[in-house]
Amino acid sequence: MPTLDIKKENQQEIGANQYVQFIFEEVQKRNPNEPEFHQAVKEVLHSLIPVIEKNPTYMKQGVLERIVEPERMISFRVPWVDDSGQVKVNRGFRVQYNSAIGPYKGGLRFHPSVNASIIKFLGFEQIFKNALTGQPIGGGKGGSDFDPKGKSDGEIMRFTQSFMSELSKYIGPDVDVPAGDIGVGAKEIGYLFGQYKKIRGGFEAGVLTGKGIGYGGSLARKEATGYGTVYFVNEMLKDQDLTFSGKTVVVSGSGNVSIYAIEKATQLGATVVACSDSSGYIYDKDGIDLSLVKQLKEVENERISEYANRKPSAEFFEGCQGIWSIPCDIALPCATQNEIDEISAKILVANGVKAVGEGANMPSTLEAIDVFQQNNILFGPAKAANAGGVSVSALEMAQNSARLSWTFEEVDQKLEEIMKTIYKECVTAANEYNAPNNLVVGANIAGFVKVADAMLAQGVI
Ligand code: NDP
Repeated sequence: MPTLDIKKENQQEIGANQYVQFIFEEVQKRNPNEPEFHQAVKEVLHSLIPVIEKNPTYMKQGVLERIVEPERMISFRVPWVDDSGQVKVNRGFRVQYNSAIGPYKGGLRFHPSVNASIIKFLGFEQIFKNALTGQPIGGGKGGSDFDPKGKSDGEIMRFTQSFMSELSKYIGPDVDVPAGDIGVGAKEIGYLFGQYKKIRGGFEAGVLTGKGIGYGGSLARKEATGYGTVYFVNEMLKDQDLTFSGKTVVVSGSGNVSIYAIEKATQLGATVVACSDSSGYIYDKDGIDLSLVKQLKEVENERISEYANRKPSAEFFEGCQGIWSIPCDIALPCATQNEIDEISAKILVANGVKAVGEGANMPSTLEAIDVFQQNNILFGPAKAANAGGVSVSALEMAQNSARLSWTFEEVDQKLEEIMKTIYKECVTAANEYNAPNNLVVGANIAGFVKVADAMLAQGVI
């Protein structure tokens, strides 16, 4: 990336605004056809203008030019053989985005939509999220356009082993530590770990997180992202003298994050009335029966529509967007990126939503976030609100290093404390930079400053 000549001819320094604009334009030029990546960068850079104004060193040392460029982007062939003997080829990715404060850390996503743009947006966000956790972890992300839906266990295992055969060259407990994400749960992590162990010929437990409890996994990791999102939203509510108790909640998705967000919100006294998958959503006026959702999704690998066949109080609706037209006090988007657009945000506001907490990564479009903020809706951005998963992943790494296992209660308590601290840091940063109640700005700034200062300390590398 060309660096910006920060002195104009008249020797007057350019402003932070111009600097940020220049960097964003360069990102667009150098990464064409990557809309999700542009969206994630735009949101962060825009928040940083006041930080650059206050600390021009970041501009003089080219911190933004460096932070938007991944340290390494690996793309590789993943050949495998399906059950009928046919050779298939998928594409694998790993972005090692930033290692200023620790080894690269971030999940692996297996979904047909995966491409360089998605992986880079997720990796870029991960830098700031990981810094917010207060743990020594850098930013990374990876995955493949492999679609696990409809594949046999044998096919998933063979694909996953082939994926790891290549990925293993680039990762390690002190280098890069992947975990799960969409389409990568306990089963896939097990196969990935087995293949890594076979290749290395040693038991390096800390190379992956989200492992099974019997071979180095942490209790409460499975629950951590969903629980953490609810803990974060609970802090936002508390500041307004509100609680989850008695509130109506809508949660999108019915995967790992959604299931445990539903569980914790229900434990705190809320009624969750809807959840979804990529084919549609269910509305259960009596409140979601979570044991049935777990049975369908964690055991039977069923579609969410089956819920309505088994529970007379529920209805199934095709399509994902309609879930946001259900009146609710609290909305927790926990499925995927850009699932709440401007129109859905307006409908949520018109129906009286009080708080939105992002369990998924970048589930709200930039226009939707504007709608929430203009209407003073409490808004917990993904970087902060869903940081519980990676926080407990870092606790898993700590347990692996110490060869210890903490109890569920110990981990859950640490998780809640971490989420409270993240909330406070976001509020403090937002206030310091004259954006009270703007947790988007607060999260971006609090995360950025930690990473940027470490980058300055380590020189131009
Ligand atoms: P899962 O694969 O367990 O679940 C994903 C859920 O979202 C499924 O119900 C899935 O439905 C639905 N979904 C996926 N893609 C789409 C789509 N294009 N449209 C509508 N629904 C969709 O993934 P996770 O729960 O792990 O991840 C969910 C989100 O949370 C992602 O944004 C992820 O990046 C983020 N996240 C996850 C963390 C974790 O610890 N797992 C940590 C931090 C963030 P279907 O089964 O039909 O595809």
